[in-house]
Amino acid sequence: MTNNISYGNLYIVPTPIGNYNDITQRALAILNKVDFILSEDTRKTGILLKYFNINNKLYSYYEFNEYKQTINVIKSLQNGKNIALVSDAGTPLINDPGYRIVQLCRTKFNNTIKIIPLGGPCAAILALSASGLPTNRFCYEGFLSKKKNKRIKRLQELKFEYRTLIIYESKHRILNCLYDIKNIFGENRYIVIAKDLTKKWENIHGDTVFNLINWINLDKNRLKGEIVLIVQGYNQTVIINNNDKIIKILYELKKELSTKTAIKIVSQIYKIKKNILYKLIISKNID
Ligand code: SAM
Repeated sequence: MTNNISYGNLYIVPTPIGNYNDITQRALAILNKVDFILSEDTRKTGILLKYFNINNKLYSYYEFNEYKQTINVIKSLQNGKNIALVSDAGTPLINDPGYRIVQLCRTKFNNTIKIIPLGGPCAAILALSASGLPTNRFCYEGFLSKKKNKRIKRLQELKFEYRTLIIYESKHRILNCLYDIKNIFGENRYIVIAKDLTKKWENIHGDTVFNLINWINLDKNRLKGEIVLIVQGYNQTVIINNNDKIIKILYELKKELSTKTAIKIVSQIYKIKKNILYKLIISKNID
Protein backbone atom coordinates (compact mmCIF):
# COMPACT_ATOMS: atom_id res chain seq x y z
CA MET A 1 0.00 0.00 0.00
CA THR A 2 1.41 3.40 -0.90
CA ASN A 3 1.32 6.38 1.42
CA ASN A 4 -0.40 9.22 -0.46
CA ILE A 5 0.62 11.95 1.94
CA SER A 6 3.49 13.93 0.50
CA TYR A 7 5.85 15.40 3.04
CA GLY A 8 5.68 19.07 3.91
CA ASN A 9 8.30 21.70 3.18
CA LEU A 10 10.49 23.40 5.74
CA TYR A 11 11.00 27.06 4.81
CA ILE A 12 13.91 28.95 6.33
CA VAL A 13 12.70 32.53 6.48
CA PRO A 14 15.05 35.46 7.27
CA THR A 15 13.43 38.42 8.99
CA PRO A 16 14.59 42.08 9.28
CA ILE A 17 17.49 42.91 11.63
CA GLY A 18 16.13 46.40 12.26
CA ASN A 19 14.28 47.87 9.33
CA TYR A 20 10.95 46.17 8.72
CA ASN A 21 11.06 47.28 5.07
CA ASP A 22 13.73 44.63 4.56
CA ILE A 23 11.15 41.84 4.74
CA THR A 24 10.68 40.28 1.31
CA GLN A 25 7.40 39.69 -0.51
CA ARG A 26 8.24 36.02 -0.58
CA ALA A 27 8.81 35.89 3.18
CA LEU A 28 5.40 37.51 3.79
CA ALA A 29 3.70 35.07 1.42
CA ILE A 30 5.32 32.04 3.08
CA LEU A 31 4.58 33.26 6.62
CA ASN A 32 0.96 33.63 5.56
CA LYS A 33 0.52 30.31 3.86
CA VAL A 34 2.43 27.77 6.01
CA ASP A 35 0.55 25.59 8.50
CA PHE A 36 2.55 27.06 11.36
CA ILE A 37 5.63 29.09 12.19
CA LEU A 38 8.45 27.91 14.41
CA SER A 39 9.93 30.87 16.16
CA GLU A 40 12.89 31.49 18.45
CA ASP A 41 10.88 34.09 20.37
CA THR A 42 7.12 33.99 19.80
CA ARG A 43 6.68 37.43 21.38
CA LYS A 44 9.07 39.12 18.95
CA THR A 45 7.77 37.23 15.94
CA GLY A 46 4.23 38.03 17.10
CA ILE A 47 5.03 41.76 16.85
CA LEU A 48 6.41 41.28 13.33
CA LEU A 49 3.35 39.29 12.21
CA LYS A 50 0.99 41.83 13.68
CA TYR A 51 2.79 44.65 11.86
CA PHE A 52 2.25 42.83 8.57
CA ASN A 53 -1.29 41.68 9.41
CA ILE A 54 -0.38 38.03 9.35
CA ASN A 55 -2.42 35.70 11.45
CA ASN A 56 -0.74 32.34 11.83
CA LYS A 57 0.10 29.84 14.56
CA LEU A 58 3.40 30.31 16.35
CA TYR A 59 5.34 27.63 18.21
CA SER A 60 8.51 28.30 20.11
CA TYR A 61 11.77 26.72 19.10
CA TYR A 62 14.90 27.64 20.97
CA GLU A 63 18.12 26.14 22.27
CA PHE A 64 16.59 24.46 25.33
CA ASN A 65 13.58 22.79 23.73
CA GLU A 66 15.26 22.14 20.39
CA TYR A 67 15.54 18.38 20.84
CA LYS A 68 11.92 17.87 21.85
CA GLN A 69 10.58 20.26 19.24
CA THR A 70 12.66 18.68 16.48
CA ILE A 71 10.80 15.39 16.96
CA ASN A 72 7.41 17.15 16.85
CA VAL A 73 8.41 19.14 13.80
CA ILE A 74 9.59 16.08 11.89
CA LYS A 75 6.28 14.35 12.66
CA SER A 76 4.35 17.36 11.33
CA LEU A 77 6.47 17.48 8.18
CA GLN A 78 5.87 13.75 7.68
CA ASN A 79 2.15 14.47 7.96
CA GLY A 80 2.38 16.92 5.10
CA LYS A 81 2.45 20.15 7.10
CA ASN A 82 4.40 23.09 5.70
CA ILE A 83 6.46 24.92 8.30
CA ALA A 84 8.37 28.22 8.37
CA LEU A 85 11.38 28.59 10.64
CA VAL A 86 12.23 32.11 11.83
CA SER A 87 14.61 33.50 14.44
CA ASP A 88 14.52 36.73 16.46
CA ALA A 89 16.08 38.61 13.58
CA GLY A 90 18.13 37.88 10.49
CA THR A 91 18.78 34.48 9.00
CA PRO A 92 17.81 31.46 11.13
CA LEU A 93 20.69 29.10 12.03
CA ILE A 94 23.30 31.86 11.72
CA ASN A 95 24.09 32.01 15.43
CA ASP A 96 20.43 31.23 15.97
CA PRO A 97 18.51 27.99 16.54
CA GLY A 98 17.49 25.61 13.78
CA TYR A 99 20.59 23.57 13.04
CA ARG A 100 19.31 20.33 14.61
CA ILE A 101 16.11 20.24 12.63
CA VAL A 102 17.73 21.15 9.32
CA GLN A 103 20.50 18.62 9.89
CA LEU A 104 18.00 15.88 10.68
CA CYS A 105 15.80 16.69 7.69
CA ARG A 106 18.84 16.73 5.44
CA THR A 107 20.45 13.54 6.69
CA LYS A 108 17.42 11.33 7.41
CA PHE A 109 14.82 12.67 4.98
CA ASN A 110 17.07 13.93 2.21
CA ASN A 111 14.74 13.35 -0.70
CA THR A 112 11.41 13.62 1.03
CA ILE A 113 11.33 16.71 3.21
CA LYS A 114 12.27 19.75 1.15
CA ILE A 115 14.26 22.47 2.90
CA ILE A 116 13.64 25.76 1.16
CA PRO A 117 15.82 28.74 2.19
CA LEU A 118 14.58 32.25 1.38
CA GLY A 119 16.84 35.22 0.66
CA GLY A 120 17.00 37.96 3.25
CA PRO A 121 18.92 39.91 5.88
CA CYS A 122 21.96 38.60 7.71
CA ALA A 123 24.03 41.01 9.83
CA ALA A 124 27.33 39.31 8.92
CA ILE A 125 26.82 39.70 5.17
CA LEU A 126 25.47 43.25 5.40
CA ALA A 127 28.49 44.32 7.48
CA LEU A 128 30.94 42.57 5.17
CA SER A 129 29.43 44.13 2.06
CA ALA A 130 29.92 47.65 3.44
CA SER A 131 33.32 47.07 5.07
CA GLY A 132 35.60 47.83 2.15
CA LEU A 133 37.66 44.78 3.14
CA PRO A 134 38.19 41.87 0.72
CA THR A 135 34.95 39.98 0.16
CA ASN A 136 36.20 37.31 -2.24
CA ARG A 137 37.30 35.12 0.66
CA PHE A 138 36.04 35.48 4.20
CA CYS A 139 35.38 33.37 7.25
CA TYR A 140 32.62 33.61 9.79
CA GLU A 141 33.60 33.21 13.44
CA GLY A 142 30.28 34.08 15.07
CA PHE A 143 30.74 34.96 18.75
CA LEU A 144 34.12 34.50 20.37
CA SER A 145 34.08 32.88 23.79
CA LYS A 146 32.97 34.91 26.80
CA LYS A 147 35.87 33.40 28.70
CA LYS A 148 39.01 35.44 28.29
CA ASN A 149 41.48 32.54 28.08
CA LYS A 150 39.37 30.72 25.47
CA ARG A 151 38.94 33.92 23.47
CA ILE A 152 42.68 34.54 23.50
CA LYS A 153 43.42 30.98 22.42
CA ARG A 154 41.02 31.27 19.49
CA LEU A 155 42.44 34.63 18.43
CA GLN A 156 45.94 33.15 18.52
CA GLU A 157 44.73 30.43 16.16
CA LEU A 158 43.26 33.11 13.87
CA LYS A 159 46.26 35.42 13.88
CA PHE A 160 47.56 34.23 10.51
CA GLU A 161 44.15 33.75 8.90
CA TYR A 162 44.46 35.62 5.62
CA ARG A 163 40.73 35.80 4.88
CA THR A 164 38.54 38.63 6.15
CA LEU A 165 37.09 37.63 9.52
CA ILE A 166 33.50 38.21 10.62
CA ILE A 167 32.90 38.33 14.36
CA TYR A 168 29.65 38.96 16.23
CA GLU A 169 30.16 40.65 19.56
CA SER A 170 28.01 41.95 22.39
CA LYS A 171 28.33 45.55 23.51
CA HIS A 172 29.47 44.31 26.95
CA ARG A 173 32.54 42.55 25.60
CA ILE A 174 33.46 44.56 22.54
CA LEU A 175 36.17 46.63 24.21
CA ASN A 176 37.86 43.62 25.82
CA CYS A 177 37.66 41.83 22.51
CA LEU A 178 39.35 44.74 20.72
CA TYR A 179 42.10 44.87 23.36
CA ASP A 180 42.71 41.15 22.84
CA ILE A 181 42.81 41.59 19.05
CA LYS A 182 45.28 44.46 19.42
CA ASN A 183 47.57 42.40 21.66
CA ILE A 184 47.48 39.31 19.46
CA PHE A 185 47.08 40.64 15.89
CA GLY A 186 49.05 43.86 16.42
CA GLU A 187 47.81 47.42 16.76
CA ASN A 188 47.74 48.11 13.03
CA ARG A 189 45.15 45.49 12.10
CA TYR A 190 42.29 47.26 10.32
CA ILE A 191 38.79 46.62 11.67
CA VAL A 192 35.33 47.83 10.73
CA ILE A 193 32.71 48.13 13.45
CA ALA A 194 29.22 47.85 11.95
CA LYS A 195 26.67 48.92 14.52
CA ASP A 196 22.88 48.84 14.41
CA LEU A 197 22.71 47.97 10.75
CA THR A 198 19.53 49.01 8.95
CA LYS A 199 18.41 50.92 12.07
CA LYS A 200 18.12 54.64 12.73
CA TRP A 201 21.49 54.78 14.54
CA GLU A 202 23.36 52.70 12.01
CA ASN A 203 27.08 53.48 12.14
CA ILE A 204 29.86 51.82 10.17
CA HIS A 205 33.32 52.93 11.21
CA GLY A 206 36.70 51.53 10.19
CA ASP A 207 40.21 52.13 11.50
CA THR A 208 43.21 50.35 12.97
CA VAL A 209 42.37 48.48 16.16
CA PHE A 210 44.55 50.92 18.09
CA ASN A 211 42.60 53.93 16.81
CA LEU A 212 39.26 52.18 17.24
CA ILE A 213 39.92 51.58 20.93
CA ASN A 214 40.72 55.29 21.39
CA TRP A 215 37.64 56.22 19.38
CA ILE A 216 35.41 54.14 21.66
CA ASN A 217 37.11 55.39 24.82
CA LEU A 218 36.32 58.96 23.75
CA ASP A 219 32.60 58.19 23.72
CA LYS A 220 31.27 54.98 25.27
CA ASN A 221 27.92 55.56 23.51
CA ARG A 222 29.70 54.20 20.47
CA LEU A 223 29.34 50.79 22.08
CA LYS A 224 25.57 50.90 22.38
CA GLY A 225 23.63 48.66 20.04
CA GLU A 226 24.24 45.49 18.08
CA ILE A 227 27.66 45.05 16.60
CA VAL A 228 29.49 43.08 13.93
CA LEU A 229 33.27 43.30 13.62
CA ILE A 230 34.87 42.84 10.22
CA VAL A 231 38.55 42.20 10.71
CA GLN A 232 41.17 42.52 7.98
CA GLY A 233 42.89 39.22 7.26
CA TYR A 234 46.58 38.68 7.88
CA ASN A 235 48.01 40.79 5.13
CA GLN A 236 51.22 39.02 4.46
CA THR A 237 52.67 41.23 1.75
CA VAL A 238 52.34 44.40 3.81
CA ILE A 239 53.65 42.75 6.93
CA ILE A 240 56.61 41.12 5.24
CA ASN A 241 57.69 44.10 3.21
CA ASN A 242 58.08 45.94 6.46
CA ASN A 243 59.55 43.09 8.36
CA ASP A 244 63.31 43.52 8.46
CA LYS A 245 63.69 40.40 10.59
CA ILE A 246 62.24 38.09 7.92
CA ILE A 247 64.34 39.72 5.22
CA LYS A 248 67.49 39.28 7.32
CA ILE A 249 66.72 35.61 8.05
CA LEU A 250 66.12 34.93 4.36
CA TYR A 251 69.36 36.70 3.53
CA GLU A 252 71.35 34.61 6.02
CA LEU A 253 69.71 31.30 5.06
CA LYS A 254 70.32 31.97 1.39
CA LYS A 255 74.05 32.18 2.05
CA GLU A 256 74.08 28.49 3.07
CA LEU A 257 70.99 26.99 1.41
CA SER A 258 69.09 26.94 -1.86
CA THR A 259 66.33 29.51 -2.35
CA LYS A 260 63.75 26.73 -2.18
CA THR A 261 64.98 25.41 1.17
CA ALA A 262 65.35 28.89 2.68
CA ILE A 263 61.78 29.70 1.69
CA LYS A 264 60.48 26.38 3.00
CA ILE A 265 62.03 26.96 6.43
CA VAL A 266 60.81 30.56 6.78
CA SER A 267 57.38 29.62 5.48
CA GLN A 268 57.02 26.85 8.06
CA ILE A 269 58.24 28.90 11.01
CA TYR A 270 56.42 32.16 10.26
CA LYS A 271 53.37 30.71 8.48
CA ILE A 272 53.96 32.91 5.47
CA LYS A 273 52.96 31.67 2.04
CA LYS A 274 55.87 30.51 -0.11
CA ASN A 275 54.90 32.56 -3.17
CA ILE A 276 54.99 35.73 -1.06
CA LEU A 277 58.50 34.87 0.13
CA TYR A 278 59.58 34.26 -3.49
CA LYS A 279 58.28 37.68 -4.46
CA LEU A 280 60.05 39.20 -1.49
CA ILE A 281 63.38 37.65 -2.47
CA ILE A 282 63.01 39.08 -5.97
CA SER A 283 61.78 42.52 -4.92
CA LYS A 284 64.50 42.98 -2.27
CA ASN A 285 67.23 41.47 -4.42
CA ILE A 286 68.17 38.97 -1.73
CA ASP A 287 70.99 36.98 -3.29
N1 SAM B 1 20.80 35.35 12.79
C1 SAM B 1 21.30 36.69 12.92
C2 SAM B 1 21.85 37.15 11.58
O1 SAM B 1 21.43 36.63 10.54
O2 SAM B 1 22.66 38.07 11.52
C3 SAM B 1 22.31 36.80 14.03
C4 SAM B 1 21.79 36.46 15.37
S1 SAM B 1 22.95 36.62 16.65
C5 SAM B 1 22.10 35.87 17.98
C6 SAM B 1 22.80 38.29 17.13
C7 SAM B 1 24.06 39.09 16.76
O3 SAM B 1 23.99 39.48 15.39
C8 SAM B 1 24.20 40.40 17.53
O4 SAM B 1 24.81 40.22 18.79
C9 SAM B 1 25.09 41.19 16.59
O5 SAM B 1 26.44 40.79 16.73
C10 SAM B 1 24.55 40.75 15.23
N2 SAM B 1 23.47 41.66 14.78
C11 SAM B 1 22.15 41.39 14.73
N3 SAM B 1 21.48 42.46 14.27
C12 SAM B 1 22.40 43.42 14.02
C13 SAM B 1 22.34 44.77 13.52
N4 SAM B 1 21.18 45.34 13.20
N5 SAM B 1 23.49 45.45 13.39
C14 SAM B 1 24.68 44.90 13.70
N6 SAM B 1 24.79 43.63 14.19
C15 SAM B 1 23.67 42.91 14.34
